[in-house]
Amino acid sequence: MTYRQALKHHIFKIISHSAEELQIECYVIGGFVRDYLLERGDAKDIDVVAVGSGIELAQQVSKNLETNPKVQIFKTYGTAMLRYDDIEVEFVGARKESYHENSRNPFVENGTLQDDQNRRDFTINALALSLNKANFGELLDPFNGIEDLEKGIIRTPLDPDITYSDDPLRMMRAIRFATQLNFKIEEQSLKAIADNKDRIKIITKERIVTELNKILESDKPSIGFKLLEKTGLLDFILPELTALKGIDEVEGQRHKDNFYHTLEVVDNICETTDNLWLRWAALLHDIGKAPTKKFSKKVGWTFHGHEFVGSKMVYKLFKRLKMPLNDKMKFVQKMVLMSSRPIVLASEVTDSAVRRLVFDAGEHVDDLMTLCEADITTKNPKKFKKYHNNFKLVRDKIVEVEERDRVRNFQPPVSGEEIMKAFNLKPSKEIGIIKEAIKEAILEGDIPNEHEAAYQLMIEKGKKLGLTVAV
Ligand code: ATP
Repeated sequence: MTYRQALKHHIFKIISHSAEELQIECYVIGGFVRDYLLERGDAKDIDVVAVGSGIELAQQVSKNLETNPKVQIFKTYGTAMLRYDDIEVEFVGARKESYHENSRNPFVENGTLQDDQNRRDFTINALALSLNKANFGELLDPFNGIEDLEKGIIRTPLDPDITYSDDPLRMMRAIRFATQLNFKIEEQSLKAIADNKDRIKIITKERIVTELNKILESDKPSIGFKLLEKTGLLDFILPELTALKGIDEVEGQRHKDNFYHTLEVVDNICETTDNLWLRWAALLHDIGKAPTKKFSKKVGWTFHGHEFVGSKMVYKLFKRLKMPLNDKMKFVQKMVLMSSRPIVLASEVTDSAVRRLVFDAGEHVDDLMTLCEADITTKNPKKFKKYHNNFKLVRDKIVEVEERDRVRNFQPPVSGEEIMKAFNLKPSKEIGIIKEAIKEAILEGDIPNEHEAAYQLMIEKGKKLGLTVAV
């Protein structure tokens, strides 16, 4: 079977011609071929394997391209990369690999195409298309990857136990591909992942997070998190989530399984947002529930303060996984901390409560509402509708209150400077007291968010504090 159609782009002709000049064989392999066959759109990353020097081939290709793009060489890996149009082509010499116990970096020798296909992680990633003149476009598929593609199966070309033990990152990749493509991991593979789960310790946090992010960026991340849990990997990576598993029962009272609830929330939020960090917030919004869980005879199961505890845990988790500790982390913390606020509101939507919500959530109030809507996982259709309607009311009220009072990015209508000037004060605690009183009055709706009204209140409040107006 030939797939010349996949190789229409000008670059393939140039690569083919360059390889012929060097008298070496070369093939497109991996993700490009897989995604073409899956009709996942035109891939922008092309991996080319040369039976010979990948670096020399890259240099020859650059010479033959009218743009003569710069060739970036990675000596340690024997690979080279160049950009053409919006395409990135990576060249590598075909190789044979053998592994050591403590590292995912193999011992490497030159090899044949078949050797190179053997070292690939999955049958669907080992598919190659020939770029050689004699059989241009021919599919080389020694492990019947095409059938696995059709059936939706993740399978390793060689013994899965060895494949995952050699490079444990492949365990994460298997689960990530299963999630992205909605494929099944073949049974032997799944068992091998479970058997090798503690090998994940030799993988850097950064690589693990890259895979977690790709899982979270998929349409249905729950597929991946269920597999991570089932294989035991999740205990190593995100024990905060496995701690949410299970349903306790005391005196006939049960709470919901917060792990599966969380996964539903994540899937829900993926239908409405592409924001990776909001997706992270959904994943972590209930992590404070495990350490705060209590049972009392009077009220049953409680998780008092779980939002606060959870937001503190977010920092530790991000730090442990070497994730950014910048505004992204702070955003996730804020979402977790505030995750129950709109829920309280939904039963009684008052102006002042909405104003406070908008004030506290600031620019992130819409994201917070999105999170809370995703958090509705009740299976009771009446309740489902009621909760959504209530949040719709909250959203409308947010718009209304915001138009009138503009508290989203609140700036005090009377500044500290102005207060000092009015009462002829030096910096002192009275200024803070007056500013707080003005803010509170605005949020409560006692005065509008306007300078005139705030100035009047400042004078009143100052008098009560024994201050006299100087100007
Ligand atoms: P994506 O771009 O979605 O991550 P991809 O398959 O292109 O998919 P890359 O990480 O770019 O993924 O890898 C390119 C190819 O290299 C893969 O298709 C696979 O053949 C091979 N590969 C990548 N990582 C590994 C690994 N850890 N072990 C074995 N083969 C791998």
